[in-house]
This record gives sequence, structure tokens and C-alpha cells, in this order.
Amino acid sequence: MRYVSTRGAAPILDFQAATLAGLASDGGLYVPEAWPRFSEAEIAAMAGRSYVEVAVRVCAPFTAGALDEAALRDVFTRAYGRFAHAAVVPLKQLDHRHFLLELFHGPTLAFKDVALQSLGLLFERFLGQSGQHITVIGATSGDTGSAAIDALAGRSGVEVCMLHPHGRVSEVQRRQMTTVLDANIHNIAIDGNFDDAQAIVKAMFNDAAFAARFPLAAVNSINWARLLFQVVYYFTSALSLGAPHRAVSYAVPTGNFGDVFAGYVAAQMGLPIERLVVATNRNDILHRALTSGDYSAGTVAPTDAPSMDIQVSSNFERLLFDLSGRDAAALAAAMAEFEATKKLALPQAWLAKADLFTSARVDADEMADTMRWALANTGELLDPHTAIGLAAARRDSGTAPMVTLATAHPAKFPAAVAAATGVHPDLPARLADLMTRPERYDIAPANLQAIEAYVAQRAKAK
Ligand SMILES: *Cc1c(COP(=O)(O)O)cnc(C)c1O
Repeated sequence: MRYVSTRGAAPILDFQAATLAGLASDGGLYVPEAWPRFSEAEIAAMAGRSYVEVAVRVCAPFTAGALDEAALRDVFTRAYGRFAHAAVVPLKQLDHRHFLLELFHGPTLAFKDVALQSLGLLFERFLGQSGQHITVIGATSGDTGSAAIDALAGRSGVEVCMLHPHGRVSEVQRRQMTTVLDANIHNIAIDGNFDDAQAIVKAMFNDAAFAARFPLAAVNSINWARLLFQVVYYFTSALSLGAPHRAVSYAVPTGNFGDVFAGYVAAQMGLPIERLVVATNRNDILHRALTSGDYSAGTVAPTDAPSMDIQVSSNFERLLFDLSGRDAAALAAAMAEFEATKKLALPQAWLAKADLFTSARVDADEMADTMRWALANTGELLDPHTAIGLAAARRDSGTAPMVTLATAHPAKFPAAVAAATGVHPDLPARLADLMTRPERYDIAPANLQAIEAYVAQRAKAK
């Protein structure tokens, strides 16, 4: 499989190079040249298989030429062996129509582990083969950072520089990053918000002189391999609910549009998905874009669901690329306009093609109400992100089984959960001493020069 940039002016890469590259050199994102498609019989043949086996089948067409099925099986067996549940991502029934897909049984309690545990092993494999050394640069609103750090701590050939917005991640999220003391892990709290952090990372990748000195890699969901590994759980959950013979809908708590884009990919591959509900909090750029074509970034408002406190959703560009009919020139012009003015009116013709998606904006009261509803009626304690997803799901009027992606364990956000429900969620036993472990991190201003200087001191030059 070959990978092309959404902006059409970067080299075409194979799976290995696209995985190590992160952002394309023209500022675009890598996507497969074409979507592989399974027949109904091929999908039906996945039913009843283990998570690892479904993952091998779903991912193999995308890694052809770089990783064969045996290599994939080895990566997935090791990655998902670290999950605390035998189903890896168990599906829980809430009522006659609604289900929760629990994606938080990995080492750091959020769905990011599903992709990053595998990505960490891929990096090690690809670097070991080529003798290369990379510096992973990331911006996190909390969960990506901890998942990436867990996946990469102590791995040879990799330095990790992870930016998070100072004081804007929960204490549990911060400690999951800053208590990892391996010498290759560097945490930087920047004086700014997540969008500032993400902009610095993007600018660093786009700084040709800097990128020429240091081999940089990305673990944000701009990394294609990460999205690919998330496609798998749409398949396993839909198969459990009767696919390919019955369509299934999903409600996805959305920030950077990575998780829900993986659902779109599953649909392109032939999985019968009736609807993808994009759930946002009051940072609702995606809701405005999908309902009225108004793709304009406001200022980020901090909420109890910090992993969704995003106004510029990088992966939306991957969807826009398809909506434009894969017209890279038109897309490059649109993104240049958006980057210059922070707003873009989406053409009606593009919007019309986004009919798989609906969206909902869920405010703080509805989020808290949904947490109370779930606890009283199903016994489930939800984290704030999952509650926003479920609130959006319950507004949907369709008839297909509706799966809400449970993206984080409630104990990652104990203050918000306790405030809404009166119940304090306990950390699982394997993390019981988190709040007393020693921490290490640096604080830096939110500007490119300062962060580049910081990275230059720690990265290995080419
Ligand atoms: C990252 C994250 C999200 C948003 O996912 P995207 O792929 O960025 O849309 C939602 N909930 C939680 C708990 C997260 O960690």
C-alpha cells in the first residue's frame, strides 16, 4: 500500500516511511492511496475471532509490503497482552439499544493505549531494522501523552519530548506522564493551551532547517498507523452486534477527529455503519462545520472533558480530502486559507458527501445529567468524555444498535465524576500508588524557539 499527502506535494511513501514521518513535508497528512474493501463474506469470516486475529485481518491490506501477517500478529499479541481485560475492548449493554465499548483497559486508562501500545512496538521494530534514531515530538491534552510515554519509555533509539498545557490536564493525567522517570522521556508543561502546544509541534515539523538536523517523528493522531489500529475495534464491536448482516451506529467523543475518522475508514472498507455521531463539548467547531459548513476556530474553553478541548482538529483534513473528491490542490488551497484566517466555509458539495456523520454539542449540565442517568439506571460510572458521547447517542433517533465509545476510565477524571455523581472513582489496583510517586517535568513558554532549543539539547542529531 502506498501513502499520499492530502496536499499532494509530498513524496509518496510506503507504510513504514509514512509511520515514521508523521506530518507530510507539504504540511498535509498521509492517507492510503485507496481504501481497501472487504466483501461481506470476508467480514462475516472475522466473526468470533480474537481481537488480535481481527486486527491482523483489518490491518494487513494497509501494511502490505512493509509488515506481513506474522509480524502484525507478533506486534498485536504483545501490545494487547498488556490489557487488563481478556476481550481487550469489552462491549457492555446499557439498554435495548445502547452499548458502551470500553476502550480503557490498557496501561494508562484511555483509548489512546489501543493504538499507541502497537505503535511503540512498530517504532522499535522499524528503527531496529534500519539502525535509525528518532525523536518523538508530541502535544497532548492529557491522554496521548501518557499513552505514548508508557509505550515508549526505555525503548532504544527513541527520545520522547511531550508538550502538555500547564495546569490544564487533570492531576491523574499529569502524573501518568511525569512519574515515568526513564532517561528518554522529557515532559514539558507549556504556558498555553492545547492548541498552542499542537501549533508548536506542527511548526517544528514544518521548520525545514530544524527537521534536517533532527529526525522527528509524531505520535499524535496525525500519525496514520495510529488511526489504522483504531479501525479494528469498530470491526470487533460491529461483528458482536450482527455485522455484516446488521448495520451499527457509533457515538464518538471527539477532539482531534482521529477516533471517529477510524470509524469512517471502517465504513469505507465495507463495514455496515449507519451513522457516526460526532459528539463535542462547548468547543464545537466540528459540530458547526458538519451542521452548517462553518469551520471556524474560536478560542478554546476549558471543560471537564479536557481531551476534547480542541478547536483545530487535525484529522478533519483527512475527511475533507475525501469530501473534495481527493482534489489535493483544492484541499491545499482550503487549508492555506484556514491556516491564515482560522476560518473556512465548507463548500455545499463537500458537506453533502458527509452524510455518514451527524453531530451534537453537549454542555456541562447535560454531561453531568448523563453521568447520573447511567449510574442510576445501569450502574455504570462514566468519565466526562464518555458521558458526552452517550448524551449525543441518546439524542440520535435511528434504529440501529448504538455503540458509544467509552474513551477513558472514570478514575482518570475523579473530580468531575465525583462532582456529578457523588461517587469517587477509585484507580485500578495496578495504579494505586500513582498519587505518591515522584514526578519530573520542565516548564517552558509557549513559543517555537524555546521549545526547539529544549528539544535540540535532548535529541540525537542525524
Ligand atoms: C483523545 C481523547 C478523545 C478525543 O479523541 P480524538 O481522536 O482526538 O477525536 C476523547 N476522549 C478521550 C478520553 C480522549 O483521550
